[in-house]
Amino acid sequence: MLMVKDATTVWGNCLQVIRESIGEQSYKTWFEPIVPTSLVNNVLTIQVPSQFFYEWLEEHYVSLLKKVIFQELGSEGRLEYSIIVDRGNAANKPQTVNLPTKKIPQAVVNSYQPEQQVIRNPFESKTIDRNYLNSQLNPSYVFENYIEGDCNRLARSAGYAVANKPGTTSFNPLMVYGGVGLGKTHLVQAIGNHIKSHAPEKFVLYVSSEKFVNQFVESVKTNSMQDFANFYLLVDILIIDDVQFLSGKEKTQEMFFHIFNHLHQSGKQIIMTSDCPPRDLKGLEERLLSRFKWGLTADLQSPDFETRMAIIQKKMQSDGIDIPENVIEYLAYSVDTNVRELEGVLISLIAQSSLNRKEIDLELAKNALKHIIEDVETEVNLDFIQKTVAEYFNVTLDSLKAKTRKKEIVTARQVAMYFAKEYTSHSLKSIGYHFGGRDHSTVIHSVQTVSDLIDTDKKFKASIQELQKKFKSKNS
Ligand code: ADP
Ligand code: MG
Repeated sequence: MLMVKDATTVWGNCLQVIRESIGEQSYKTWFEPIVPTSLVNNVLTIQVPSQFFYEWLEEHYVSLLKKVIFQELGSEGRLEYSIIVDRGNAANKPQTVNLPTKKIPQAVVNSYQPEQQVIRNPFESKTIDRNYLNSQLNPSYVFENYIEGDCNRLARSAGYAVANKPGTTSFNPLMVYGGVGLGKTHLVQAIGNHIKSHAPEKFVLYVSSEKFVNQFVESVKTNSMQDFANFYLLVDILIIDDVQFLSGKEKTQEMFFHIFNHLHQSGKQIIMTSDCPPRDLKGLEERLLSRFKWGLTADLQSPDFETRMAIIQKKMQSDGIDIPENVIEYLAYSVDTNVRELEGVLISLIAQSSLNRKEIDLELAKNALKHIIEDVETEVNLDFIQKTVAEYFNVTLDSLKAKTRKKEIVTARQVAMYFAKEYTSHSLKSIGYHFGGRDHSTVIHSVQTVSDLIDTDKKFKASIQELQKKFKSKNS
């Protein structure tokens, strides 16, 4: 009697061999989702969930696959992939494209050695149980204590939408950007915490880009990049903070690109933050940047006066501390840079009050915050800084606000921005505006550049100190 082989049986036999040849986690990730669809003329077709999946299989398992196909179907046997390119819906069937496997010489197939025993690392565990995976979220960052204002309305409501329907809104990826201390980390963690409490079966993971890079580098050292990838592919909601940190790290970006594609194609949610808009992210690959723009990009601005008032009130309320309205107003007026600074001021005020056993009143607030709010009442303003710095560097006042990229002018401009940040209460946005309509990330960059130069260049440091005296004497 002639045995008619069918796709399921053949693939089942292949799987037995594959399972014995590779790690459990790799098997689960890469082979369990495969569905055998047909066996015609010794061509076995298997359906894979995405293009990325296909590429990964071809890159990492092609010789193993060749070998098992050879064992099952003989030298005439071939493998073809059917790749889902559109998952379809109730009315439309999923769309697929078919691709053959790579042609590789038989000698390579014959010489195939099963994977070596996988080295243990944090990502590879035979008993990986998603319920025990730690989300790395800070439970105190929630929507309930995230004050809404004009400065964050779009980002917050998009975040809330994503939190309620991760992976199914068009906000995928969701990219939140803004300067330091404006609430990026709080917002994206609030999304994560919300999902965790409403959909506990989902694996939410928060990771800073810095940690992601370090983990990746470590996995390269221990030759366990695949386990690294496998781990991230388990995630349902990936929150990756401060992606500007990936800048210039090409290999990590490549890995992130694959993880991103795979998660995105399988309908998983990706949430990112950055300190500047994607278009200004230097040192990031174009293909990565273009994907960042697939979903929604929303920015956080410095909070306006009313929002600052509300934030102070909320913080005081949750700490059980009462402070008079006029003090709240005074603080909200004086500290207009970012929320983190505002919080710092509040903490120091509370400390002063309890150390000196004094009620918090306007006088105490003024005293306690002298060093921070000086600029509110002094003569050191933007104009004075620009004029003084221009004179010092012997450039014209206008050139500071012009487009020119001449080196000496750029330096003068950066120094002036640095002092504006240091000695006035202008927000980054406002500083940028007063330097010919530059945006806040340019200001951040300038401040950083100057700080770096102060640390590394003695002569430069001396000039800065000389200038500093001019502003300080004016202040006292
Ligand atoms: P970033 O990540 O943008 O540097 P964070 O998210 O760390 O900023 O925010 C700095 C601090 O300000 C945190 O303690 C955060 O809770 C607080 N914060 C920021 N925005 C808000 C807001 N809209 N409402 C309440 N607290 C906020
Ligand atoms: Mg942050």
